[in-house]
Amino acid sequence: MTPSDQPHTGNSTAAFPTDWQKREQAILAPWAMHAIESAGRTHEEPPHPFRSPYQRDRDRIVHSAAFRRLAHKTQVFTDYPGDFHRSRLTHTLEVTSIARTLARTLALNEDLVEALALAHDIGHPPLGHAGEDTLNELLADEGGFNHNAQALRIMTLLEQRYPQFPGLNLSQEILDAQAVRARLPEAPPPLLEAQVVDAADSIAYDTHDADDAVELGLVTLDDLLTLPLVASAAANVTDRYGSLGPLALRRAVLHELIERQVADLIRETTTRLQEGQFQSATAARTPAEPGGRLVAHEPGLAAGKRDLERFLFQQVYRSTRVMEVRQRAQQQLSDLFCWYCQHPEEMPPRYRQRVDSVGLKRSVADYLAGMTDRYLKRDVQRRLG
Ligand code: MG
Repeated sequence: MTPSDQPHTGNSTAAFPTDWQKREQAILAPWAMHAIESAGRTHEEPPHPFRSPYQRDRDRIVHSAAFRRLAHKTQVFTDYPGDFHRSRLTHTLEVTSIARTLARTLALNEDLVEALALAHDIGHPPLGHAGEDTLNELLADEGGFNHNAQALRIMTLLEQRYPQFPGLNLSQEILDAQAVRARLPEAPPPLLEAQVVDAADSIAYDTHDADDAVELGLVTLDDLLTLPLVASAAANVTDRYGSLGPLALRRAVLHELIERQVADLIRETTTRLQEGQFQSATAARTPAEPGGRLVAHEPGLAAGKRDLERFLFQQVYRSTRVMEVRQRAQQQLSDLFCWYCQHPEEMPPRYRQRVDSVGLKRSVADYLAGMTDRYLKRDVQRRLG
């Protein structure tokens, strides 16, 4: 009998050649989160015959509407024409790629890391952080709006894909990691897998926002080379390849920057793990100092990253060109929010129905937050002319 002939009784893995429990036992470090130790799901379900709980989480995220919409959501550069710069989906895939490399090298649970990385940005509304700031102001007297908290709402309530429960019914470890990101007071300290995803997120956006900013003409490569971290990456590239043209140099420097951050993170984290001699995921997640993390860069590189982030904030995210587009887009989002508050009957039924339980403003925000940038643009034209 081949695996595909097996009935989906859901209770036995014995008939399948790959047993995820054995695989995890063989390859994961003691400080990794083993799926067998999972706190489970809010709505109990029988185990899957051949996918581990975290593989199942990953698949649920990939098949969700919120994940698909990342393809048409802006990362930073709202409303810029062109197909070059990153969308939230391509950012998410870059984060996932880096995070899986880190997880495999550190013998952490790669399935859990993949699920966490794919899910980490699903709560973003249209227009990137500009959209988030606007919704946060509009909901100021109702607890505000935050993309990390919104991801939790999507995971536990807003996605409607399964008849037996609302949301995606993900493993508790995914919800806990998202609760840490949303800074909920009850969130437990992050697992190493969650720390890896946060570090990969930072590596990805620091590097690709610099790349996109040069591509869009907001800064030049020479501007970036004033930063010691970028300058030393460029020096390495020149040592290796000799003198390169501007585009080849830029690409090589970006690869070097990612490689250097990943290698540094692995080195520093490995040292800390060896010093700690952790025998379980629980021991490794409990920091010696409040808020401390084992997955970390060495202090020199961490300082270089802070310089780069300060530069990006001042020269790119708060540049006149980005701010002008941002303010126009924020006004449109705000006007559309007010329009739906006056015409809630124009929302799809499931958002209308939730007005009684979550309030009008929250339900309108849930609806708008689910829109892609281009859907929002079309809806603004349709509703506001
Ligand atoms: Mg991100």
